[in-house]
Amino acid sequence: MQRRDIIKSFLAAPAMPAAAAQEAARRSTGLPPLRITNVKVIPTSGGARYRWIFVKIETSEPGLYGIGSASNHYSTHAVITALEKHAAPFLLGKDPSRIEDIWQSAHLRTYWRNGPVNNNVLSGIDMALWDIMGKRCGVPVHDLLGGKVRDAVPCYDHASGGDFESATESVQKSIANGFRHIRVQMGNYGGGGFIAKGQGNRPEGGHQGTAFDEEMYVDRVPKLFEHVRAKVGFEPKLCHDVHSHLTSMNAVEFCRRVQPLQMFFVEDVLAPEQIAWYKQIRQACTTPQAIGEVFSHPYEILPLITERLIDFIRCRVSAMGGITPLRKFATLGEIFGVKTAFQEGGENDPVNQLAAYHIDISSPAFGIQEENTFPAAARELLPGCAEIRKGYLYGNGKPGLGIDIDEKLAAKHPIQPIEGGGTYPLDRTLDGAVVKP
Ligand code: MG
Repeated sequence: MQRRDIIKSFLAAPAMPAAAAQEAARRSTGLPPLRITNVKVIPTSGGARYRWIFVKIETSEPGLYGIGSASNHYSTHAVITALEKHAAPFLLGKDPSRIEDIWQSAHLRTYWRNGPVNNNVLSGIDMALWDIMGKRCGVPVHDLLGGKVRDAVPCYDHASGGDFESATESVQKSIANGFRHIRVQMGNYGGGGFIAKGQGNRPEGGHQGTAFDEEMYVDRVPKLFEHVRAKVGFEPKLCHDVHSHLTSMNAVEFCRRVQPLQMFFVEDVLAPEQIAWYKQIRQACTTPQAIGEVFSHPYEILPLITERLIDFIRCRVSAMGGITPLRKFATLGEIFGVKTAFQEGGENDPVNQLAAYHIDISSPAFGIQEENTFPAAARELLPGCAEIRKGYLYGNGKPGLGIDIDEKLAAKHPIQPIEGGGTYPLDRTLDGAVVKP
């Protein structure tokens, strides 16, 4: 025997029994290669006045597809066009199991990174790919992310009233409905700081609508929370959204004044353009801070997490590019002791809500989820919507995201013509200047 043959005989593996060989083959090669065969963009009003955009990615495996949310209430048609004309041709033929690679290459495909429109495009694609992978493996997406670390996802409710008494009654209603976490507002965002229409000293011929006044807000809203605490005690966890209406020392002073009221968090006390002031807030008081709703680039929130200047990451999953980047935010938050509080109210959609759910329920960094309840027409359009019962959000445990879309029903409910181009309603001060939303 030649030396080479002797070595070969030592290295030869013992013959594997046929059944074991079959099992090994099933484990390693049981799934045939997969490719993206079609990308559908499905805009719909959801039977109400929503401007939802869903992406449906179909694959070479018969019946295997995924759906994702790319909804954008203010640049709706820009997102639809970007998906149809740019993203869909890019995706055709690609392997949908390469989720991270597709996210990275779709992110860099546009050369200029991020931005709200491209983030929505990325999000629609990304959620659909996670949905496909979950369905293919026969498990919910949260199992792909490491599995459940809690039994359900606690949500905060929305309470509001035009005066202290009606706001307090609204809080009591939320408590009666089983919510432990409640966000309290005085009517619309900025409420408590508005000078009534036509009142106050205004420039000749200028803005005559309600006018926002920072100092009035800083004086009045903490008194609302004193009133609520006096009525409901300190057990309910109370939040408040300033919606970026304050600036500099007024933001610091507001947080200092509500400190004795033991807030669960104060949200967007500053606009994203002024995040450097969070250092002053930290030096002045211990009121927990949440921000991130209108961020569109991960590097906006990065220093706030790594310098521990905030307590809650408040980004919207579909506005930041989907599950792939947001699970990284959650991991970063876990390392630095900052929690998640993903944004989910208002014009959001049930697919985005479920994407948030899967990260929430599998992340040790989870803090709270915003409640959102959808009308019956929307639930019919999107079978498998998550359910909120007594303050907890539940998924349905089905493979993938766990939600589907009735395309025929979606076609019956097109997005309505957008008056004025879809402008976010802006508040103004007495002198007519816009207030950051
Ligand atoms: Mg908000």
